[in-house]
Amino acid sequence: MQNLEALIRDVPDFPKPGIIFKDITPLLADAPALKATADALTEPFAGRGVEIVVGIESRGFIFGSMVAERLGAGFVPLRKPGKLPVEKRSASYELEYGSETIEIHADAVRPGQKVLMVDDLLATGGTMAAGCELIEQLGGEIVGVSLLIELCFLNGRDKLPGREVHTLIEVE
Ligand code: AMP
Repeated sequence: MQNLEALIRDVPDFPKPGIIFKDITPLLADAPALKATADALTEPFAGRGVEIVVGIESRGFIFGSMVAERLGAGFVPLRKPGKLPVEKRSASYELEYGSETIEIHADAVRPGQKVLMVDDLLATGGTMAAGCELIEQLGGEIVGVSLLIELCFLNGRDKLPGREVHTLIEVE
């Protein structure tokens, strides 16, 4: 994990003042690190009947599809507004300033399907909490949540009570 952490670049004041952006592009470009990340995101959820991996736009698409392939599961994208072409469900959640919306196709998950949620980073937890709620509205059963980085000081886990949250790098 230390090796992975060394490949994540801190970019101060991006995209706005006061935010330290975690740039994962060096990790993505490093073949052994990319493989190790996907393996580690998958490992606790192997053999648990996961049928669908849901990835959150856009960095969650990269890891989510790699995890889906490893689990022999399908992949479903949770997208920013206006990108999905047919009937969809949306969830909005508050950010520090303003609000954000994510969308999923209404037929993307069938009732009773076992779902693993994947993204690159847990900050306030608002995105992941809204994503989990959308899946459950469709009748999906959330097996767990798997993320590369957790910004622990933002207490994102508090928005995911009772869920199995697996993170590889914890930033205190
Ligand atoms: P949140 O809803 O606050 O947990 O934010 C999580 C989402 O925003 C994830 O999809 C992340 O990719 C992105 N994000 C939030 N904060 C950062 C950060 N400091 N560096 C990189 N991505 C971030």
